[in-house]
Amino acid sequence: EATVRYLEDCPLFNAGKGAVFTAEGTNELDSSIMDGKTLNAGAVASIKHIKNPISLARLVMEKSPHVMLIGKGAELFAKKMGIKWVPNKYFFTQERWDSFMKQKKEIEKKEKNKTTGTVGAVALDQLGDLAAATSTGGMSNKMYGRVGDSPIIGAGTYANNSTCAVSCTGYGEYFIRSVVAYDISVLMEYSGLSVSRAAEKTLEKVAALGGDGGVIAIDHNGNMAMPFNSNGMFRAYVGKDGIPHVKIYKDQIEENLK
Ligand code: ASP
Repeated sequence: EATVRYLEDCPLFNAGKGAVFTAEGTNELDSSIMDGKTLNAGAVASIKHIKNPISLARLVMEKSPHVMLIGKGAELFAKKMGIKWVPNKYFFTQERWDSFMKQKKEIEKKEKNKTTGTVGAVALDQLGDLAAATSTGGMSNKMYGRVGDSPIIGAGTYANNSTCAVSCTGYGEYFIRSVVAYDISVLMEYSGLSVSRAAEKTLEKVAALGGDGGVIAIDHNGNMAMPFNSNGMFRAYVGKDGIPHVKIYKDQIEENLK
């Protein structure tokens, strides 16, 4: 939650402030979180006024009997919880608006919506517990009411101490249809694949449908996988050496850039 909150507050990413716009020019945010120890989960979708949707997702997980709340109901719950409320225009950034205007023209031509910058975090703590969290503004120019994979447990987010924690980014419709995050866990659980092989295999299924994107995943031993079939994916990790590693492009290209 802490990492995703930080990224939501950063206008560079498509989550919280700086989120992409719906076709109506508003911002609608989706988010989810899952605890791999208890398999508890919380999610919110079509949020318009909550500064940090990931924190509302966590409250849904911990303070409500439900897993997912959407729109007005989620925001009424947020009011009761006293979580920070903002006007919808808080999420606006000029840069995102300009690229939305530019994209709108391109999208109309290609009839394909674009997205970049969904944020997510997966973590393994000292007790061996896994967790995953994802937050997004969704797809640029999306229809009013459209919900992507990010707030869907098993599609965009999943954590289970016996396998892995996963957070996804990419063309959400394909990620929902491929049940990506849970598929990776299942491949580990029932087929005995490593986290990196499982993640790659699942992404191959997404690609076969015509989708693109990537995942960040960590298993219960701290092995990490961050495959993607898009041009690049902003990603970073801190492993056992305690040193932060930051990457954008495929590992090979990163090596050549050094
Ligand atoms: N997966 C997100 C969605 O479809 C978008 C993204 O990852 O950029 O809503």
